[in-house]
Amino acid sequence: MKIRYTDVLVIGGGLAGLRAAIGAKRRGFDATILSLVPPKRSHSAAAQGGM
Ligand SMILES: Cc1cc2nc3c(=O)[nH]c(=O)nc-3n(C[C@H](O)[C@H](O)[C@H](O)COP(=O)(O)OP(=O)(O)OC[C@H]3O[C@@H](n4cnc5c(N)ncnc54)[C@H](O)[C@@H]3O)c2cc1C
Repeated sequence: MKIRYTDVLVIGGGLAGLRAAIGAKRRGFDATILSLVPPKRSHSAAAQGGM
């Protein structure tokens, strides 16, 4: 089993998860995103009307 260490573990690769990971990275933390589906297949990618 491969073990990965990270400062911040974000569950979900939609907009909320990606934004949280960017925020953590900007503050100097290592961030890892764990997602059931790839970011481009999340509901965030389906939103067409603007958020
Ligand atoms: C068809 C459609 C059109 C929409 N259009 C609009 C719009 O025009 N304007 C608007 O403002 N909003 C719209 N919305 C709503 C908008 O997409 C969501 O409110 C927003 O994307 C939610 O972002 P999120 O990051 O919280 O969730 P999501 O984008 O849904 O991301 C959730 C992430 O969590 C992951 N995940 C889920 N379960 C697990 C698990 N057990 N383990 C690990 N990862 C997991 C998924 O893989 C996914 O990456 C639309 C939604 C849909 C479905």
